[in-house]
Amino acid sequence: MPRIGAAKPTQPGDVIDAHVHLFTVGLLEEFVSKMPEGSERFREALKQRRWGKRNNVLPSKTPEQTARWYVDRMKQADVKKALFVSVMPDNQWTRDFLVAANGHVHGLCNVDPRDPGAPALLEREMAAGFRGVKLYPVNRAYRLSDPACRPFFEKADELGANITVHYGVTVDPTGDLNYADPLDLSPVARDFPNLQFVIAHFGAGWLDSVLRVAYQCKNICVDTSGTNNWMDYYVPKMTLAEVFERTIMALGPERILFGTDSGTTAPYRTWIRYMQQRTLEEMGLSDGDRDLILRGNASRIFRLDEPLLPTPSAE
Ligand SMILES: [Zn+2]
Repeated sequence: MPRIGAAKPTQPGDVIDAHVHLFTVGLLEEFVSKMPEGSERFREALKQRRWGKRNNVLPSKTPEQTARWYVDRMKQADVKKALFVSVMPDNQWTRDFLVAANGHVHGLCNVDPRDPGAPALLEREMAAGFRGVKLYPVNRAYRLSDPACRPFFEKADELGANITVHYGVTVDPTGDLNYADPLDLSPVARDFPNLQFVIAHFGAGWLDSVLRVAYQCKNICVDTSGTNNWMDYYVPKMTLAEVFERTIMALGPERILFGTDSGTTAPYRTWIRYMQQRTLEEMGLSDGDRDLILRGNASRIFRLDEPLLPTPSAE
């Protein structure tokens, strides 16, 4: 498998995007062929070769071409490394992309933690180079506190596989907001104090729960990714600076990870990077604290500056 030259460790002042996405024709083809039923949205996307709200063109490239293209876009956005969150479980195309991207783009694997096979799958994915897990309780309608998830968390704890969780509103029309409240994370974070949990998009409309649960559990963090358009209907009305201010107050700057939620079918969300960086500057945050949010925390929590393992034997 051809790959890009290995990424060097980031430096203070660099930016790591801790929440991006990966959608391509090859990745979806593999997913649909494995799960022919229950994936109408994806089959339709493949037929049209288009994806997302704006019906953008789905890229059709090899994993290696995609890796080069992804890193090029990051360069233009002045982003040194990125962490993609998998939406498809157990996907060889995605594993190939990860190897090709060689530490410039890291990944979180997709696992259903209730599945009795989840601990074994997690072990395989971490050995393939993934740096942790992305969980989707709202989209898949489950609770992390469900005892069925317990063996999965025990394995994650053993492997040091930290976890990003999507709570709150979702663009997925099948999502169930009965599972949206991050308070459900409380007993899990309590019982696994060595695991780090990152709640995406400031909780996507559940900021009050995020602040409470993260104040209580010191191993809960947030990512800032996306347009954060949940602020449009949040009560009380808040600016992005106020959202950052409350979050820094409750969690501290060492538990906030910057992200854009960029995908592969629309241009890289450079404007989100500038908007958030500018907001932090205007708030008068010290260089050190800004560096934690924009780079250091993601690097530490997901080990993004360690070489991608294992080194493939045949290149
Ligand atoms: Zn996302």
